[in-house]
Amino acid sequence: MNAARPDLIRKSSQPGGVTPNWTAYEALRKSFSWEQARRELGQPAGGGMNIAWAAVERHAQGTRADRTAFRFVDDAGTTTISYAQLSRESNRFANVLNTLGVARGDAVFLLAGRSQAMYVATLGTFKNGCVACPLFPAFGPEPLATRMKIGDARVLVTTQALYRRKVAPMRDSLPGLRQVLLTGCDRSLPMLPGTLDLDALMAQAATGFDIVATAEEDPALLHFTSGTTGTPKGAIHVHGAVVTHYATGKYALDLHDEDVFWCTADPGWVTGMSYGIIAPLLHGVTSVVDAGEFDAQRWYEILETQEVSVWYTAPTALRMLMRAGPALAREHAYPRLRFIASVGEPLNPEAVWWGQDVLGLPVHDNWWQTETGGIMIANTPAFDIKPGSMGRPLPGVDACIVRRDESGAVQVVEQVGEQGELALRRGWPSMLRGYLHNEERYQKCFAGELYLTGDLARRDEDGYFWFVGRSDDVIKCSGHLVGPFEIENALMEHPAVAEAGAIGKPDPTTGESIKAFVSLKPGFEPAESLRLELLGHARSRLGAAIAPKEIAFLSVLPRTRSGKIMRRLLKARELGLPEGDISTLEAGA
Ligand code: ATP
Ligand code: MG
Repeated sequence: MNAARPDLIRKSSQPGGVTPNWTAYEALRKSFSWEQARRELGQPAGGGMNIAWAAVERHAQGTRADRTAFRFVDDAGTTTISYAQLSRESNRFANVLNTLGVARGDAVFLLAGRSQAMYVATLGTFKNGCVACPLFPAFGPEPLATRMKIGDARVLVTTQALYRRKVAPMRDSLPGLRQVLLTGCDRSLPMLPGTLDLDALMAQAATGFDIVATAEEDPALLHFTSGTTGTPKGAIHVHGAVVTHYATGKYALDLHDEDVFWCTADPGWVTGMSYGIIAPLLHGVTSVVDAGEFDAQRWYEILETQEVSVWYTAPTALRMLMRAGPALAREHAYPRLRFIASVGEPLNPEAVWWGQDVLGLPVHDNWWQTETGGIMIANTPAFDIKPGSMGRPLPGVDACIVRRDESGAVQVVEQVGEQGELALRRGWPSMLRGYLHNEERYQKCFAGELYLTGDLARRDEDGYFWFVGRSDDVIKCSGHLVGPFEIENALMEHPAVAEAGAIGKPDPTTGESIKAFVSLKPGFEPAESLRLELLGHARSRLGAAIAPKEIAFLSVLPRTRSGKIMRRLLKARELGLPEGDISTLEAGA
């Protein structure tokens, strides 16, 4: 932590004029139950649960019918769709699936970017009782085909261009893929073999549909993990998960009726599904969907002109905005913005403070995983922020730190400040119900009633959790267990550093020695003098025992396409080891 900064941002210093949904931390944690959250959300008339019923149908039949559900922003301008229209369009899609004989439980893969078709098809898939499997469009043909094979893809919804470039070359290897539905087809050309014109089918389909009576435990979603630590795993989630999306939208993102919400994640990742589609719809708010890629100037324009009030983004995007400099941010005004949150990887304290300094609002870090289906630990309006901490467990979430004893048994660590594996007591509604075709790996996630996250953390005396690193990334140096995050934070405090990634290298005397890779902000060039300055800076911040012994400059750090620094790849490259599964590696890294 930078010596000049206080180590707390008081909740009373948060502006907004809106009373948060959660103000007293302990009181709500005590009174909350998942059962009560489910009652608050309601249930379809026949019982059970269906995500699309909760997200769309409830509103389409009620007072929010004409409210805008999504504003799709692209080069051509802004297109809006109301809750009532979204209901009718998703009904059409469910009818299209029915007509094609696609039945309950079948896997519908969705590869259509941040287009209206993607959102409509996802909701129609839920309505028809099928399992929605979103895919990230920047993947190449191989990783897309691999996921479709693992997920037993029965139907694929995509665009003509994506199909031609990315799916057609692999189609022969996907015999189970029976229908490919293309949106936005060029009608002057013949349809590609083995494809159907989705827009034409939609135009003929009826706008009424009786939602399939799914049970809470019926599978609804298949999400692939980011592949940061190895081969991506397919996590299965059920319709009942929607109760977590509802409660976390309320308490972690503080969604209020009049909000304009912007989740910058692509629906190909779990954040873009749970919080880019489901949670904001559950709360009946208007969401902004930006079809374009990251661009600092355009992002500030969106925040301003769309009058975004709640913004959910990621550390990598925040670091890119920081890199673009404060002057650009100050060319715009954000009077409606009242809450900013971030997820995906550790949020450096510098980024929390950047929000406070440049946008007038701190960034609220929160922690969760594809497997947890929703936010578990967060900084929220209900308590002060400790920059660098991922916050405190949400209502209904029981988190602890565990260790294995000599016999291999998992023990809960009661001692405050002790480092260990982060674990959650099972039973929250959006917990994964399996890894597809990998029961053994799934069983390894559990020790009795505890779900083991694979992340290392510690809890402080106020119940805040501090991320240390993934268990695979942690560095054992001179008898200390060092998390890369701590090293990276210290480097990020230096004005030249845009991003940092730290790894351990085998060392005969210290066990492992630390090497850090940094990329620089504009205006700084790699130079020996700067390298020495950074080594000195790190040593003064961290102490000689855990300061990096080596620092190297990289123009970009290797990242997953969901924006996470791939330390395992930095390490493999440094040590000349095989690179492993790099299907999610961002291009050019
Ligand atoms: P894989 O499991 O395939 O290796 P992944 O773990 O990166 O990939 P995700 O489920 O997308 O896949 O990411 C969850 C992980 O991201 C968490 O386990 C944690 O390591 C990291 N993470 C997410 N949010 C935070 C946060 N706020 N602070 C620290 N780490 C975070
Ligand atoms: Mg993981």
